[in-house]
Amino acid sequence: MLYGSTVYLMIDDDCGREEYREKMVEACGTRDQLMNASFFIVATNVMCETQQAEFPPLEIGICQYSIASGIKFSYHEFIDAGKVPLGYMHSAKEHADRTHRIPLNGFNLSTNNYKKLVEDMKQILEESRFTNQMTGKPTPMLVFCREDAIEQNRGVFQWLQHKYNEINKTSFEWDLEVLDLVLLLYYISKSGGHTISMAAGEGAMKSSVYDYAIHDLCEYHKDLDNKECAKGLARRLCFMLSDVLCSMFGITPTQNHLPLKVEVNAETYTGVLHDVKQLLPNRYHQNVGTDDSQWNPNQDMADEEANSPIPQTGIGRGRPNASKPQNNSF
Ligand SMILES: [Zn+2]
Repeated sequence: MLYGSTVYLMIDDDCGREEYREKMVEACGTRDQLMNASFFIVATNVMCETQQAEFPPLEIGICQYSIASGIKFSYHEFIDAGKVPLGYMHSAKEHADRTHRIPLNGFNLSTNNYKKLVEDMKQILEESRFTNQMTGKPTPMLVFCREDAIEQNRGVFQWLQHKYNEINKTSFEWDLEVLDLVLLLYYISKSGGHTISMAAGEGAMKSSVYDYAIHDLCEYHKDLDNKECAKGLARRLCFMLSDVLCSMFGITPTQNHLPLKVEVNAETYTGVLHDVKQLLPNRYHQNVGTDDSQWNPNQDMADEEANSPIPQTGIGRGRPNASKPQNNSF
């Protein structure tokens, strides 16, 4: 079907995914509705995976994305997951060193207010429900990620649910599904009349073309020049969607669809500075009085702060998002 007055997000048996047929059948209605529908993209970083399939979370990023508007909202938090589960310290440290480099404990940007985390996310993700036009009932909350991250991301939501219930003595359950972003792309493209294959979708969503977009990382990972950032990955996945969908739906990309080109130069400049002066890895720990105290006194701080585009103070002194969910990105 080409663009007409009634284009549905068609779900069928092509991919054999019953969950899509049940939860998103014709959920988006017309082409306009499809282009303005909000899809929620999630990415997380965790300590480890235990044998009980627990995923203690350290960082979560969620983006609200629509074809018409690009990224409409970004949510990001660091999570204090408490102690590393017994027997997993080695693997957790190894994983952190190799990837996200988030301190496993004593990290002063993280929160252990699980009640607020869950309630904020519930509020944000309420908008991720569609109305199933076959039944007239709302779907569960729906979030999307790469297929290989589904288990971890489900585990993070379950971990938070468990903590929430432990604190509040409740039996709250997420009404939420974590689904494959490539399948979503497939169904959107099919509905748009330009079906792309699952293999092509897979390739598009694994692209490294936006790895340079350092300004889409959280402040902590930006500071470390480390792209293994949950916020950064969620945003890059949205950019990858835009790569395919903007041309397909005749949208002129905005800065909410794709990172600004100017970031290439800014990132290169930042990269050069990082090469010149290493940032200290433990400056975000809570037992650090000030950021400045971690610097080698022999360094010329006045010169450093005057010339570096990287904020040397004001980071690591409290959580910027402590009060309410807010748009971190715009
Ligand atoms: Zn980050």
